[in-house]
Amino acid sequence: MTRQDLSNQIRRRRTFAIISHPDAGKTTLTEKLLLYGGAIRLAGSVKSRRAQKHAVSDWMEIEKQRGISVTSSVLQFEYDGYCINILDTPGHQDFSEDTYRTLMAADSAVMVIDCAKGVEDQTKKLFHVCKMRGIPIFTFINKLDRAGKTPFELMEEIEKVLGIKSYPMNWPIGTDGNFKGVYNRKEAQIEVFHEGNHGQSVVSSMVGDVGDDVFKDLIGKELHQQLTEEIELLDMAGDSFNLNMILKGEQTPIFFGSAMTNFGVKPFLESFLSLTTPPSPRDSNKGEIDPESENFTGFIFKIQANMNPTHRDRIAFLRICSGKFNKGMMVNHVQANKKVRLSQPQQFMAQDRVIVEEAYAGDIIGIHDPGIFRIGDTLCEEQDKIMYEGIPVFAPEHFAKIYAKNSLKRKHFLKGISQIAEEGAIQVFKRPQIGVEELIVGVVGALQFEVLEYRLKNEYGVDIVMNQLSYKYIRWVEMEDFDPDNFGITMDTLIVEDEDEQPVLLFQNEWSIDRVKERNPKAILKDISSRK
Ligand code: GDP
Repeated sequence: MTRQDLSNQIRRRRTFAIISHPDAGKTTLTEKLLLYGGAIRLAGSVKSRRAQKHAVSDWMEIEKQRGISVTSSVLQFEYDGYCINILDTPGHQDFSEDTYRTLMAADSAVMVIDCAKGVEDQTKKLFHVCKMRGIPIFTFINKLDRAGKTPFELMEEIEKVLGIKSYPMNWPIGTDGNFKGVYNRKEAQIEVFHEGNHGQSVVSSMVGDVGDDVFKDLIGKELHQQLTEEIELLDMAGDSFNLNMILKGEQTPIFFGSAMTNFGVKPFLESFLSLTTPPSPRDSNKGEIDPESENFTGFIFKIQANMNPTHRDRIAFLRICSGKFNKGMMVNHVQANKKVRLSQPQQFMAQDRVIVEEAYAGDIIGIHDPGIFRIGDTLCEEQDKIMYEGIPVFAPEHFAKIYAKNSLKRKHFLKGISQIAEEGAIQVFKRPQIGVEELIVGVVGALQFEVLEYRLKNEYGVDIVMNQLSYKYIRWVEMEDFDPDNFGITMDTLIVEDEDEQPVLLFQNEWSIDRVKERNPKAILKDISSRK
């Protein structure tokens, strides 16, 4: 492969995550993007949508029961010469840590908003997580086929509540059940969509100059007049388009549409693909790594056990950051200082997992993990030990005491706990006097306790007893010669050890944190672990 071929392959890649408050239409939009990419032939009708949803992007049984996406999945498809990788993220706030890790693998994000609901709680939290990454954020305002807030209200809400500038790339024609098309501001063109078969297949449309009389007839004089006035107002009062700000995540391009009827899906997709970035350089301990470098590099952002219950396999998700990947290649596993062969790499197409022969910077591949990888690990081809920035671990905010109901199941219990901890879903602590008979588990979102209990039962055959504790804050202690017996704590503070046997304190309130600091001036208390 020539350098030019490599460069062409990488430049045509677009890797992004979709975020939304549950029910805003993330799944429907994802499905429609696949439809327009030709990766699926007919989108699931509203009735069969649930079934379709699981066939496409949800793996875990628990998701079917709860109807929320617990883990993120990855899909790849082609559109108009682009190779697109979509990362799905859980909408529920209790999984924001998982969302953050997924965003580490994305080059941009698409935020889906329900036009009737506007900016919702989870939108805010997920937006904040995107902001931390500093990646471009595109907004798709969905469900325009239904009654909702006015486009101006929505714009204002996005700017005020999220604190980001906005620039509508297009503008809806007809709202509140009368959605007919969109006005493209850059081209000054109207696109009117024809009713399709409930969005099951691609919709046809008519495109032309806004001044063309045909459209006055097609959408009616009144709507045409209203559109003209709104556009004038927008041009006068709104911010101007600023690509530089967009790429820094300081201005969000807004698109209007209906994922259900497909109106506005294609204009969004095409404009988004042309604006968003191909894989960009990433920071490492050796400086920025150019994605088009010939040295294959990547990092693991997610680990998931038992994705396929019949195979009991464990998959590590690798974001390729530079160069080209070939099946079976030997790479350096930098953190472990070992060489590994990547022999059964998988990619996630619309409906299936397939073995990949080759992949490029920007792509996500799943590699078989015999228990050697950790989240944040770097893999690279050449000897120079490149290490990408680590992925931060969020401080747990909920704690519980757990043990196996049946003590004969202890081995399975410990295996399950340690595998689920390696996925980053839970953090495990023990009390030195008690050991592993009874563990303390910390999670960022309380729902993760339910996932833990469910998975231990279903994947490891272990019933557990769980007692939630009233601790809310965690601090890692850095101190020479730490001695738990001579360390001054308050009555309601607990001393535990993390998996690396580092001393950790659990607090019920901030008052206690202050007291402990006063009593132990030599100790440094940190709210994230200093582990690599
Ligand atoms: P998610 O939770 O964000 O993945 O949302 P879903 O894609 O599952 O959609 C939630 C509900 O909204 C489903 O009943 C969809 O059929 C419906 N929905 C999605 N997009 C649209 C749309 O454009 N218009 C209307 N009217 N309903 C939609």
